[in-house]
Formats: sequence, C-alpha cells, structure tokens
Amino acid sequence: LDELSRQRYLRQLIIPGFGEEAQRKLSDATVFIAGAGGLGSSAALYLAAAGVGCLRICDDDVVELSNLNRQILHNESRLGRNKADSAAETLRELNPSIRIEPLAVRITPENIGELAGRALFLVDCLDNVATRYILNRFAWKKGLPLVHGGINGMAGQVTVLVPGKTPCMQCLFPEEPPRGTIPVLGAAPGVIGSLLAMETIKMITGFGEPLLGRLFFWDGMTQEARTIAWKGIPDCPVCGGGPPGPMKP
Ligand SMILES: [Zn+2]
Repeated sequence: LDELSRQRYLRQLIIPGFGEEAQRKLSDATVFIAGAGGLGSSAALYLAAAGVGCLRICDDDVVELSNLNRQILHNESRLGRNKADSAAETLRELNPSIRIEPLAVRITPENIGELAGRALFLVDCLDNVATRYILNRFAWKKGLPLVHGGINGMAGQVTVLVPGKTPCMQCLFPEEPPRGTIPVLGAAPGVIGSLLAMETIKMITGFGEPLLGRLFFWDGMTQEARTIAWKGIPDCPVCGGGPPGPMKP
C-alpha cells in the first residue's frame, strides 16, 4: 500500500486480523450495486470509503424530492438527474482513488451480464422483487455471491446468498409481493445499507463470518434484532432448495 492509502485506511488497517492483505483484496475487487436509492446510498458510500477498487452502480431512475429523506448519495441540486450519475459524483468526491462506473440503465435478464461486467460480488439494493429475481438467476448462473438487503418502514433484513452454499432469493421470496409505495424512515436503509457494505467487505476479504444461510432481521421500532437459520423451498426452480445445511442459527 502507498503512503496515502495507509493514511486513508489507517483505522480499518489496525482492526486485529484485517491488515494490508484485506485492504489489497478490497482494492482489487469490483462490486456491482443494483440500485442507487436508500439502500444503495449507504452501501455504496461505505464500500467507496473502505476502498473497494471499482464500484459499478446501476439505476435508471432520476432523483426526485421525495427521495431525499433517505437517499443520501443525492441532494437538491441533483433533482431530475439520473441516480447512477449523481451517485458517481458523490462517491468520486468521497474517494477519488477508486473507480466508479455509473450505469443509467434498467436491469433486464438480457443486459444483466453486461451491466455486472467483471464484478465478482453483487449487492441487492433494489426496491422490487421482480428485479431481484433477475439478479438472483444471474448470480446462480455465474456462481456469484449476492448480498441481499430489504427494508420496510422502520425495519429491515439482510442475508448473503451464495450458489452451492445457501438457498436463493426465489426461496426467500417464493412469490412476488404486490408493488406499491413502501414507507421508509431514512435511517432504516442507513442501517441496512451499512450492513450490506459490511457483509460485502467480509465476502471480499474473507474477514469475519458472513450471514450465509442466516437471515438477520432488525426492527427499529423496538431496536430488537434476531438472526435465524433459514431453509430453501425444496422445488425451487433456481437453486433446487439449496444445500441441506448445516446452517448456523
Ligand atoms: Zn432457491
């Protein structure tokens, strides 16, 4: 690591067991972030701050005033601009030493491969299950880990989906829930997006114990949290129900 990187990342380099090797793995990694909304904001900010070498951030939406209670990558001067482009501007100001590749495109089954590019880690910061299914099928086809986060109101959940090691998104959401405007207090995607960044960093570096086959639920109303082991559905069309275990509770 050069002197500037040693300074920039000093406080994480001194975490016992982390060190320069983990930092080099981060700087060599490319991560695909699906969505530059509430979850994408805190996830991308912490991945950029931690020094992940390349972030491909994808969103075809434009910034609206009603986004600004939670989507902290954006601000009032960016109203009407594409969210991926706005995100790239914020992230480059935060950490100019990494690469940010904005993708102002809607994710489809046809273009997901091109959008993910050389990313070996996928982060689900989406707001709908239909697009999550696309990301899930791609992850299973390519054997790539997919870090999932979801929020609703004052609560949220996180898990890490890994082909061959865990059940998949289709098992987590066997049916597509009806679409509608989801209520959100901005601090909720702040919490869950931070956890997405943390799980992604753990997957990249091999540091810590990621949420494989474990689902973390957090309720901001009571500040109760729990982690449960979960199983796939036996006839899942994507993963076939995942491996039988063992999964840690
Ligand atoms: Zn499945």
